[in-house]
Amino acid sequence: MQYTQKILEQTIKKNPNEPEFHQAITEILTTLQPFINEHPQYEKEKVLERMVEPERQIIFRVPWVDDKGEIQVNRGYRVQSNSAIGPYKGGLRFHPSVNLSVIKFLSFEQIFKNSLTGLPIGGGKGGADFDPKGKSDREVMAFCQSFINELYRHIGADWDIPAGDIGVGGREIGFMYGQYKRLTGKYEGAFTGKGLTYGGSLVRTEATGYGLVYMAENMLHSKGISFEDKKVAISGSGNVAIYAAQKASQFGAKVVTMSDSNGYVYDPDGMDIDAIKEIKEKRRGRIKEYLEYRKNAEYFENGLVWSVPCDIALPCATQNELQEDGAKLLIKNGCIVVAEGSNMSTSLEATHLLQNSGVFFAPGKAANAGGVAVSALEMAQNSSRISWSFEEIDCKLRNIMHEIYTNSFEAAEKYGMKGNLVAGANIAGFKKVADAMIQQGTV
Ligand code: NDP
Repeated sequence: MQYTQKILEQTIKKNPNEPEFHQAITEILTTLQPFINEHPQYEKEKVLERMVEPERQIIFRVPWVDDKGEIQVNRGYRVQSNSAIGPYKGGLRFHPSVNLSVIKFLSFEQIFKNSLTGLPIGGGKGGADFDPKGKSDREVMAFCQSFINELYRHIGADWDIPAGDIGVGGREIGFMYGQYKRLTGKYEGAFTGKGLTYGGSLVRTEATGYGLVYMAENMLHSKGISFEDKKVAISGSGNVAIYAAQKASQFGAKVVTMSDSNGYVYDPDGMDIDAIKEIKEKRRGRIKEYLEYRKNAEYFENGLVWSVPCDIALPCATQNELQEDGAKLLIKNGCIVVAEGSNMSTSLEATHLLQNSGVFFAPGKAANAGGVAVSALEMAQNSSRISWSFEEIDCKLRNIMHEIYTNSFEAAEKYGMKGNLVAGANIAGFKKVADAMIQQGTV
């Protein structure tokens, strides 16, 4: 049996009931085989066995008091997967669907994503099964403070640096950073995504969405086309979706649809990004409220956002939001490019369907790496006590995304899988981490 297949089977057996983690390792291990075949040292050094086992998994109780004076208890997680090339780095997700499988898949993916950025950051991820939706600011603060009362001892500016993800934005990072500072007495960059008045970086808010569009720009460019006058379908209406929509519009595209977990809106005139920002960032409302702003827009509670015809599809909500039925609709409607804004947006079957139908596909670990790249730039600014301008950081971000695209494309080509950015990103991300692990001895 091939080495990658053997490790895949062993890992699935050893970690039962973790479907998201199984999916992530299947995607990575099945594409690494041609590269591993040419480099037997990875098998000899048991690199895959070590990589699929997180360095550390922390699970903890998070008790807090709600506005009725009742005690609530949630479960918190931090999975520190790999520190071969730098301190653990990855976001925190607050959503009722969070469990160990979800955090392990995200943390595993983060190893390769962070390596692809070319910056010195290892892989980690965390979160809790807490739902900030519908909670008062005081309740969110109480939860965040309790979460940090345990997590603070496992993180730090040179050890593990969390950031935002689903359900964790500027408000939550502020509450957590404040509590971290109170408990440790340290004013250090132990989080990224901080507010601009206390160590945050310009462009961090925009970074994942802008970076995603820069990735798609490179993909389109390879086919001799641009965003100009193209129709773009975006799922989600959170941080990643909003800034992807903004950049795509700035590039002359028409964003025709956005969604949330209740439904999607279709706007034939192109989405009004300021309206979406007001609804989502200020009012913390629902996408349906968009109808108050645009008379031609329509709202659909059922059905797939991918049924709206588009040239470019950018899934930006959550894992496995694009399945075979959605992929078939995109193919039927002539979609050219799919780039994942969310992590593992696309099921394995849907990914193969898109690739086999000639749709140019970029996986999240390459396409959404702009967020963590600018987080690493925030860390650099914090350690040197300086701040760069918006233009400077945006330019660095665009260059990083170009490098990620080029490295992924070339790695795939070298191993006989031209145009397969999934394989290319996995190989390019894996090599650096694997070599660092070997050079550091049995770690
Ligand atoms: P937000 O919380 O800001 O927004 C999430 C959006 O996705 C909301 O519109 C939400 O709708 C929707 N959504 C979440 N869960 C579900 C679900 N189970 N079903 C349907 N819709 C859902 O998160 P972000 O924009 O930060 O993150 C979006 C994705 O991008 C995630 O996969 C994240 O891991 C990934 N990502 C984020 C980065 C960042 O810098 N923020 C960096 C790299 C990747 P509703 O409000 O109804 O829940």
